[in-house]
Amino acid sequence: MINTLPNTSVKVRLRLYAAGYCLHPEWVTIRGGSLRACRFPAGFALIEHPVRGPVLFDTGYASRFFAGTARLPMSVYRWLTPVAYREEESAANQLRRDGIEPERVRYVIVSHFHADHIGGLGDFPSARFVYLPEAYEEVRHCHGFAALRKGFVRELVPDDFVDRALPLDRAHTVPFPPECPFPQGIDVFGDGSLYAVDVPGHAAGQIGLFLSTERHDYFLCADTVWASRAFRESRLPHPLAGLIMSSRHRYRESFERLHELHKRCPQLRIVPSHCREALERWGTEGAPL
Ligand SMILES: [Zn+2]
Repeated sequence: MINTLPNTSVKVRLRLYAAGYCLHPEWVTIRGGSLRACRFPAGFALIEHPVRGPVLFDTGYASRFFAGTARLPMSVYRWLTPVAYREEESAANQLRRDGIEPERVRYVIVSHFHADHIGGLGDFPSARFVYLPEAYEEVRHCHGFAALRKGFVRELVPDDFVDRALPLDRAHTVPFPPECPFPQGIDVFGDGSLYAVDVPGHAAGQIGLFLSTERHDYFLCADTVWASRAFRESRLPHPLAGLIMSSRHRYRESFERLHELHKRCPQLRIVPSHCREALERWGTEGAPL
């Protein structure tokens, strides 16, 4: 078989979760979608690395989101995408229930800085934050309406964020097999376990993550699409969704690469952060064997 995927030499365990969800009209997120508001879970992933321990990919919402969006202009965020969330659903509380104290999490990989991905950063006091520098550059100076437009809620970023930051270094870029529509990735820990991949357009500097468990290969594609149907059927979002994108042109390129990846590698489990179908189907595959 032609090798399309990067070589993940270290296998990990994976569990998928969601911390709250938002309601959003489906037709904005996918061509031909229905007019009614659909639930979009705020997915996050627990990756259990054999040496680095528990690693998170994003965090979903947390109660801090409501404090951070209580006043104008940020309250507009909540009107546009009403959020349903219960405290027991926070990433920290769900991990605790599954036997992992939040203090044990040493890394949180941030796909991008939208509020539904960074809501829980403040709940992991021992974690270093891993992200692409351009993702944070895009938002760090934004306040008021500029922040709102970028879906950035400043209160969600811990005060000591910069001290704990571990930005990805492009010097650790490795080429992927020529058959892979994504030409390269950054070897996050330098051991071939996790590869961060550029999927910009939805947000500047957005990353996805290639990884493998003992049984399956995964690509956590963040918000490159909102639902698996989009890459399966090559259905782009409505042009209106472009209003919140950092670049329509780059979005399209990331989207087409994802669609191509699925076509070339249909057995690969592609997990969009907000796809209920993917989260429910594969949520516990990586649970302890
Ligand atoms: Zn999102």
